[in-house]
Amino acid sequence: MDRFAYLLTEAQGLSREVLGGKGFGLVAMHRAGLPVPPAFILSTAACRRFLQEGEVPGLWEEVEAKVAALEGLTGKRFGRGEGGAPPLLVSVRSGAPVSMPGMMDTILNLGLSLEGVGALARATGNPRFAWDAFRRLLAMYGEVVLGERAEVFEERLSALKARRGVRTDAELSAEDLEELALGYLRHLEARGTPFPLDPWAQLRGAVEAVFRSWQNPRARTYRRIYGIPEDLGTAVVVQAMVFGNLGEDSGTGVGFTRNPATGEKGLYGEYLRNAQGEDVVAGVRTPEPLERLLDYAPGLYREIEAIAQLLERHFRDMQDFEFTVERGRLYLLQTRSGKRTAQAAVRIAVEMAEEGLITREEAVLRVEANALPGLLRPAVDRERAPKPFLQGLPASPGAAFGHAVFSNEAAERYAAQGLPAVLVRPETTPEDITGMYLAKGILTARGGLTSHAAVVARGLGVPAVVGAEALRVYPEEGRAVAEGVEIREGDLLTLDGGTGAVYLGAVPLVEAQGEALLAKLLAWAEPHRRLGVRANADTPLDASRARAFGAEGIGLCRTEHMFFAEERLPWVRRLILAATEEEEEAALSALFAFQKEDFKAILRAMDGLPVTVRLLDPPLHEFLPPWEELKAKAEAGDEEAQALLERAQALREQNPMLGFRGVRLLLLRPSILRMQLRALLEAAQELRQEGLDPRPEVMVPLVADPKEVERARALAEELFRVYGPIPFGTMIETPRAALLAGEIAPLVDFFSFGTNDLTQMAFGLSRDDAGKFLPRYVEEGLFPFDPTERLDEKGVGRLLRLAVEEGRRANPRLKVGLCGEHGGEARSVALVAPLLDYTSASPYRVLTARLAAAQAGLKEGVAAG
Ligand code: ADP
Ligand code: MG
Ligand code: MG
Repeated sequence: MDRFAYLLTEAQGLSREVLGGKGFGLVAMHRAGLPVPPAFILSTAACRRFLQEGEVPGLWEEVEAKVAALEGLTGKRFGRGEGGAPPLLVSVRSGAPVSMPGMMDTILNLGLSLEGVGALARATGNPRFAWDAFRRLLAMYGEVVLGERAEVFEERLSALKARRGVRTDAELSAEDLEELALGYLRHLEARGTPFPLDPWAQLRGAVEAVFRSWQNPRARTYRRIYGIPEDLGTAVVVQAMVFGNLGEDSGTGVGFTRNPATGEKGLYGEYLRNAQGEDVVAGVRTPEPLERLLDYAPGLYREIEAIAQLLERHFRDMQDFEFTVERGRLYLLQTRSGKRTAQAAVRIAVEMAEEGLITREEAVLRVEANALPGLLRPAVDRERAPKPFLQGLPASPGAAFGHAVFSNEAAERYAAQGLPAVLVRPETTPEDITGMYLAKGILTARGGLTSHAAVVARGLGVPAVVGAEALRVYPEEGRAVAEGVEIREGDLLTLDGGTGAVYLGAVPLVEAQGEALLAKLLAWAEPHRRLGVRANADTPLDASRARAFGAEGIGLCRTEHMFFAEERLPWVRRLILAATEEEEEAALSALFAFQKEDFKAILRAMDGLPVTVRLLDPPLHEFLPPWEELKAKAEAGDEEAQALLERAQALREQNPMLGFRGVRLLLLRPSILRMQLRALLEAAQELRQEGLDPRPEVMVPLVADPKEVERARALAEELFRVYGPIPFGTMIETPRAALLAGEIAPLVDFFSFGTNDLTQMAFGLSRDDAGKFLPRYVEEGLFPFDPTERLDEKGVGRLLRLAVEEGRRANPRLKVGLCGEHGGEARSVALVAPLLDYTSASPYRVLTARLAAAQAGLKEGVAAG
């Protein structure tokens, strides 16, 4: 018989994949002798089976046997108070193999019925507590299992508080809570979804709802953002309840073994007295710092501190743990590797290696390479900034500037227009994930440093200020008020997630400070890196910035970017309009002068390192003013506009991406190719005369056939005969070029994979239009991820491998690089690291590429030295 249910004692040795992260952590803590309430775990296999077949054979018999075991361990009967003992109540908790905080649903106090409430009241001598537990169960069950909106319960609670003239839940009496609970019961009944008063029916309903919650939209969104596979399923933990809301000697909290924002070593956390667990995460009340315990329960603080150390030694990583204190007794409810900012990740990895807890190699592998650009986020310049108008808690570092928005929908609207937004909410819930993802910053009125808003913001790398208590937010009205100032949608805000300060309008920022710890980590990483790392840079500023980040050259310098500058566009337009050879000559020689100066500056910034210049790539009409503008001017009698309009008409293309551009344009208008290449060669020559060591390379875009390369090379050779040769290469960005790589390779010195276009052409989609369907494709599981962000291994990767193999076979001296957006994306870099000579990333992503390449080297076994 298949087994799906395991007591903590029975689950030893089972993997995280089977038990889920939460179950796995509970088993480990139990094993280490820590106080964990008795529990059993339903495996992820049960969930997968349930989602596929709608039932799991034998599961309920197993569950009955395990509940009986919990009864034995606790001396209580499930749902029934016997002999003056309180009834056994349980929590039904979801726990996937990969942490998805707050994304799935958990139900507490399960097993209560009307008699149960009476028994609980008698056993604890606290009827208020008993009714409070029941109304919480009804609201959670009503939402998660019966599908009622959470607001319905909240509104009734708020209405009751208003009638009683009180502000907090704590001021409501036992009778008030009884009235509230009975009202919930009647409401659910009237709605046609009655609450099951039978504990066993509750348990079954809850377990199945947790299974199903794997498929809920916010869980899917979370998996999409973090690239978590769809088919893992969640485990379910059924655990005896302990109560943090039994009075002032009870409470609930969250601890971190190191600070998740800064990485600083030492116990860090928050505690809420007389409260149940979900109150901390939900940000209903703002908790107090854990150190406050030192004032009134120092023994408890020391106990938590000792446990934190034990957990960290056991798991060899920073832990984020949940605990509850019931009448002075401490219980551990969860532990997991804590989410952390990029800054904290680097500090924790380096310090743990220095403490000898992990090796240097492990430290290198611990840091998520894609998160490094977050380290370089600017901060508010405190010297020059005005006084903040509002103060909250510093939840996720970095400065954010944008327009205030109050909903997902508004965040989407601003993002669609390319405008930065700051999401302002009373607190956040998993429903807000879209807005949080799109926003440049997050501001909440309530909640602590471990609230949903704070945890998710750190995970996403979005700056956040939470718990700004002076702020009142009215999302439905699209406004917020603080310190007598009203903020409406669209108003500009700046927030500093490193200090918790919030400013009206824009304030001066400072670039991130150089990170000594990061330098140390990279120094440990570098010896394992085999793949070269260059930068995509079009300006001298980008070039020197990239060099400071450790770029070993430029892999892609897009010359057309130099054409768009204000003083140059008129010359490009004259080139396009030229009717005679003299006119063309004049335009070209003006452009030649500009290009030569640009190339000199870039080669100078990259002195001694290779600089790959790509010849003109876009179609000419991209340099003309917008159609409507031309038309309006022409109609107003502007003669130049009239001429440009006619040219624009002639140049117009249905599919410019597949049109008259790249090598096609260069071959049919060779004067452009000659001008650009001569500018590059003369720039190098002049620098050499200054005693410098320029290393230019030239490459041709959009090639699809060896003949094109041959012709372009012949044109280049004419100039090489005058100035001396430089490496000549081609982009491989059409599928046909990849397929014919063996014929192209002997004609060139290097290939550079343009994976942006190669992806677009391999998939037959354009990045500019894919926004309409790609996100939904990923959401619905048609694509595992967005291939414009992360390199598609199966298709594009196959073209790439084939081209590398056949290219190298035909030309053993061939150098091979990659210069698409993927060149700075960690998982893509890992994929190509064993294949290529170098990758090329945008300047801020050079660090990511370096670390990702070293991590790949470590995994391949590239030895240090
Ligand atoms: P999440 O995955 O959202 O963290 P959890 O399953 O951890 O959900 O539960 C939500 C809250 O309820 C947490 O604060 C947790 O500590 C608390 N909780 C869960 N089970 C119990 C229990 N058996 N007794 C007391 N509190 C519990
Ligand atoms: Mg939890
Ligand atoms: Mg291209």
